[in-house]
Amino acid sequence: MTARAYAPANAVARHLVTVEDFKTYAAPALEAAPLWVPGRCFNPACGCAFTPARSWQVYCSTSCERAGTAEFRRWGHRMALPLLAWRVNKYQPGDTAAGELARVARRHVTEAQSAWLRERAAAIEAAGCGS
Ligand SMILES: [Zn+2]
Repeated sequence: MTARAYAPANAVARHLVTVEDFKTYAAPALEAAPLWVPGRCFNPACGCAFTPARSWQVYCSTSCERAGTAEFRRWGHRMALPLLAWRVNKYQPGDTAAGELARVARRHVTEAQSAWLRERAAAIEAAGCGS
């Protein structure tokens, strides 16, 4: 058997062939307007201060990194289908079923993004460390 045969079937793809990861793609913009505070855990349920071992470290521990991966996986999977539906039908006329699907998908993504922010805000509030 090859190594590929042992790859977990339900794992999130780490390397897409055509698009680089967002941290690389948006590095200058993220540096100018960071989403996290260096030395403050990016896991909203933690948010505690820590000393980064690497400049790119955003989580205080492996368990917080895993929680962050699970958070991104959960919300990413929720938004993947509407993102695809939106993009596939983006230029369809508004008075068609495909145009309506694009609008519904866009609204769903917006609502999911807002729900994600509310979930993170609630987790930060409950964590008590603040960020
Ligand atoms: Zn943490």
